[in-house]
Amino acid sequence: MIGELAKPVMYLQGVGPKKSELYERMDVRTVYDLLYHFPRYYIDLNEPQTIRDAPLNEQVVLKGRVVRKLPEAPIRRGLSVYKAIFTDDTADLTIVIYNAGYLFKSLEVGHEYYLVGKLTGNLIRREINSPQIYPAASADPVQPVYRLTEGITQNLLRQNMHSAIEKLGGFIYEPLPPQILREYGLCSLHYAMQNIHFPTDMHTLELAKDRLVFDELLTLALGMLMMKSRSRENAGCVMKGESIDEYYDALPFELTKGQKNAINDCIADMQRDYPMNRLVQGDVGSGKTAVAAGAAFFAYKNGCQTALMAPTEILAAQHYETLNGFLEPLGVKVILLTGSMTAKKKEKVKEGIASGEYSVVVGTHALVQASTEFKKLGLVITDEQHRFGVEQRAMLAQKGDNPHKLVMSATPIPRTLALMIYGDLDISVLGELPKGRQPVETYAVTGKLRERAFGYLKQHLDEGRQGYIVCPMIEESAADLQDVKSYAKSLTEGVFKDYRVGLLHGRLAADKKEKVMKKFKAHELDILVSTTVVEVGVDVPNATVMLIENADRFGLSQLHQLRGRVGRGEHKSACILVTDNPTDEVVKRLKILSKSHDGFAISQEDLKLRGPGDFFGSRQHGLPKMKIADMSQNMDVLVKAQAAAKEILCQDPKLESPQNSGLKELVEQLFEQNVSND
Ligand code: ADP
Ligand code: MG
Repeated sequence: MIGELAKPVMYLQGVGPKKSELYERMDVRTVYDLLYHFPRYYIDLNEPQTIRDAPLNEQVVLKGRVVRKLPEAPIRRGLSVYKAIFTDDTADLTIVIYNAGYLFKSLEVGHEYYLVGKLTGNLIRREINSPQIYPAASADPVQPVYRLTEGITQNLLRQNMHSAIEKLGGFIYEPLPPQILREYGLCSLHYAMQNIHFPTDMHTLELAKDRLVFDELLTLALGMLMMKSRSRENAGCVMKGESIDEYYDALPFELTKGQKNAINDCIADMQRDYPMNRLVQGDVGSGKTAVAAGAAFFAYKNGCQTALMAPTEILAAQHYETLNGFLEPLGVKVILLTGSMTAKKKEKVKEGIASGEYSVVVGTHALVQASTEFKKLGLVITDEQHRFGVEQRAMLAQKGDNPHKLVMSATPIPRTLALMIYGDLDISVLGELPKGRQPVETYAVTGKLRERAFGYLKQHLDEGRQGYIVCPMIEESAADLQDVKSYAKSLTEGVFKDYRVGLLHGRLAADKKEKVMKKFKAHELDILVSTTVVEVGVDVPNATVMLIENADRFGLSQLHQLRGRVGRGEHKSACILVTDNPTDEVVKRLKILSKSHDGFAISQEDLKLRGPGDFFGSRQHGLPKMKIADMSQNMDVLVKAQAAAKEILCQDPKLESPQNSGLKELVEQLFEQNVSND
């Protein structure tokens, strides 16, 4: 049991009400929180450099003794500078300390110290300004450096951490069962905590990290697997084998093999006595919506309602149109429900949902709100799931009578990662694009050719087509937004002044976004200047050119998704990647897109070239936040943790045995924290 560790930090020696308030600002409330406040990095005092050889203007670690202290020199009122001469017998330097008289006083002539800081000056007169100073006799050999808040110093935090670790050792808290520790060669939690905070050398630090990373990934893997088995228990809305030939017959096209298989997978799943939990993974344009509609029609034939959630209002509106187009002729009533509707309208729609008037409901997050009641919700579909989270899936699953779940994603991810992210799902893959699709011709050019690229875009516009210009705005920050706005303005007033240009970005209010998008769809705009909000699923078949600025700032998979916005109609389409940073590596990367149109292959290339950081950097996967594990760095541990999780659950599926109680607590904690964060 966490027991003692759950006590407030105030419980530690030297932490009073004031300090504990400061700690709270860093999200540290309990002794447990403090222990899991890991250092940002470490300073290794084990191998100091010599003053003679230490480079200038870089952070260095030195070891030597104070030779002489110079008299205090007041610069002006309230500001003093203190200096001392320091040597390690290879050379001398001057320590310069501003104002911190107490620190200066603590230095003793003839004693040895470590100094950490930047050397300045020249090779004859070296100086080190406000270094960190550690007495050689008593310093821990590897110094942790923590994220701090005002009023909490590194020293104080280290002191408090020492007492926290003592407490931990006092009652030996160990969440992992002994046989797992043995099998995976892991150190004890007490050892790990001692050495993540106060390692004696880099080796003990590694051991500590391995253990803590393992804990975190194991907890995650357990949680994902348990979610999957939990949904196995409950009988969902069990359906009968109704035929959906009407649906197939009414479609204006022949479904691909992948689409047919995916629909059949869904139909089979929905006839079992536990809910479907399926992911349909398919490249952009592979036709996931037609799969969704097929599944929804099957639910309808069984007298059940379907809810489809999209990450944005634009997408929700579009899905509504598509589904309505497919299903209305078959007598299915489809309705749109979004957050930006007026309260009155929403109320009315909700009434219709509750009464069962509507069989298919398409919407944004508004759908997850507890206030929407369904008459008989049988199927929940979420689109582009990487924008949602595991916990949202779980939340919707609680609505109604344990509905079947279908998740659609265009993000091609390598298998190991998929196992972790979608550990709770079965997967159907749409392996091919519909017939007759022309690949989007892709060119990478430098900024020098920008004008020509604009000219090319104009040609298409003059033929009646439309185009996108995409600007990278990764964080959708205020500063970036300013850049995008002025860029759009320069286009509107300059090269595209004779065309109708619209601007779309993530900071626009939902109804404004909607308006711009509608205008673009209705061809009341020729060009849409947009940030990556256009990335997900937008479908305007008349748009045939996409120009992407600063393409080097995107991952290949993301570029591939972006370009999937064009090439959706009968006209030949093109994508122009512009970069002002044409290094060899960038050129090589962008060329991959000219050659390949296979999302999965592209993601593999991306993985090779940039590592899996792209999949995890942006938190788009919706997994709980990790404290120490980095799934892009710790792949080997990830694989082990998955194996361990399976082994543990095989013997104890609900973690009910006493030896697994610590693990159970960890799982609950990780997933709970994630729900409250969003
Ligand atoms: P995505 O998988 O990217 O969500 P969509 O479902 O938006 O793809 O489908 C892209 C386009 O392809 C739509 O216009 C859709 O009507 C069309 N489409 C889907 N399936 C087929 C098919 N089998 N044959 C021809 N066109 C199709
Ligand atoms: Mg789509």
